[in-house]
Amino acid sequence: MPPDAPGHAAPPTPDGLLDGLVIESTGSWYMVRAGEVTIPSRLPGRFRLDAVTETNPVAVGDRVRVVRGDDGTGTIESLVPRENALRRRAAGRRVGVDAVIAANVDRAWVVQSASMPALNPGLVDRFLVAAEREEIPAGIVVNKTDLALTDEAVAAALAAFVGRYRGIGYPVVETSAETGAGVDAWREALRDRVSVVSGPSGVGKSSLLNAAAPGLALRTGAVSARTKKGKHTTTNAVLHALPFGGYVVDTPGIREFGVVDVSPEDLGFYFIEFKPHIGACRFQPCTHDHEPDCAVMAALDEGAISEVRYDSYLSILDSIRLGDRGR
Ligand code: GDP
Ligand code: ZN
Repeated sequence: MPPDAPGHAAPPTPDGLLDGLVIESTGSWYMVRAGEVTIPSRLPGRFRLDAVTETNPVAVGDRVRVVRGDDGTGTIESLVPRENALRRRAAGRRVGVDAVIAANVDRAWVVQSASMPALNPGLVDRFLVAAEREEIPAGIVVNKTDLALTDEAVAAALAAFVGRYRGIGYPVVETSAETGAGVDAWREALRDRVSVVSGPSGVGKSSLLNAAAPGLALRTGAVSARTKKGKHTTTNAVLHALPFGGYVVDTPGIREFGVVDVSPEDLGFYFIEFKPHIGACRFQPCTHDHEPDCAVMAALDEGAISEVRYDSYLSILDSIRLGDRGR
């Protein structure tokens, strides 16, 4: 990787270390922004040994201190303690190995499309649990709302989905990168914050970020008619500065989202609408699936908790228990 270094680095600290922000991680190289320069940096092996529970001990959004060598590349000497880190089960890895999607974020957004691909509440709920666990304020973006204009079934599913999440207090931004509807609201949601944006591929996440901030020029999935080839899909999260203030961490498309580090007894606390009921369960702790006099199940029976959300809860509970058994 060429040590391109236009501009000037931030002034080094008295011990020769530069303060930097990790803006991209390729696995072996970390791109560290320090002042006006980006320093391709390496991580000493000891770091990896120190953090065996994570596939990426340093992640996008991390604040680090680097020493710059004569060739212009850097060595990451230390990691500033994180405020938070959005994590998920690393794809294909055994239980307990996490992938940090992004560190030190103000808000986490999961992007869906009204159709093509269809809404995926199971994935959304797993994402929300991961955000709640880290106390990162979360929100949902539903793109391709233009597809609901001509299809009643899509419109009905969209309305039910949006109502369900707004009803429990999550912000939901409805957009169409195609028509521009909702793009202003989306830009306002991103302004002056550090936001991580995730979602399955094909929902229009790149199109939507480009619509909010055209300068980003992210590649979108429109298939080239000439080459019949799809886009070159990115495999790394990248932190971009936004021209209107703030930063966005654009993440590669996620197929599934495994929650990590949540026990069966704690899971209910990460379903924000369950929380007010949990204290009234007869058994403490309660996993709200088989216990008698469970206040969460009572709320479900009364219709105060949605069946879709409760089904997600049971499905996540199941995967946590299966994971525990396999440990
Ligand atoms: P990503 O994989 O989530 O980044 O999705 P892309 O931004 O690459 O978009 C995937 C496909 O959906 C492309 O063919 C886009 O043209 C299309 N697309 C994106 N946004 C919209 C939208 O709001 N409405 C419609 N109908 N299509 C969209
Ligand atoms: Zn209960």
